[in-house]
Amino acid sequence: MLESDLGTSTEVELDYPSVEIDDVSLTPLTGSFQTIRSSKGLYITGELYSSTETECARCLENVKLPLSIKIDDLFYYPASTAPPGEFGVGIDGFVDLNPLVRQLSLLEIPMKPSCRSDCKGLCAHCGNNLNFDNCECETDNIDPRLESLRPLLDSQTEIGN
Ligand SMILES: [Zn+2]
Ligand SMILES: [Zn+2]
Repeated sequence: MLESDLGTSTEVELDYPSVEIDDVSLTPLTGSFQTIRSSKGLYITGELYSSTETECARCLENVKLPLSIKIDDLFYYPASTAPPGEFGVGIDGFVDLNPLVRQLSLLEIPMKPSCRSDCKGLCAHCGNNLNFDNCECETDNIDPRLESLRPLLDSQTEIGN
């Protein structure tokens, strides 16, 4: 690519059953991007599709999160011309997409992922997963005289989430 004329573009298709980039595992990783030779290096644009497994922040069950990763980046060549925080083309002429894909994937993963929007989470008393089963804890532990405070307690729990 680096040898080719400015403006030359190549379409690259990705179709990996699974990719591990440090702490991120993407299963699968598919999609396509275009590599365009520009005066500053290689411009890469496209969209990748994947999913990653993480823990639901409420019930701690494993969740599969779909990810769509938009790439729209210039890889500077030579790499020494890349401003801080930007990526460069390797000395061997190869573009290592891993750090970028990892960074973009992490941006796609919410801080508090949940398995579904109405996940009930775990019981604060016994750890029971309330999505599967109700437990007796709440009714047992709350003094009937405090019952009027329950809406308040519940709203605090909500904020805590
Ligand atoms: Zn959940
Ligand atoms: Zn319980």
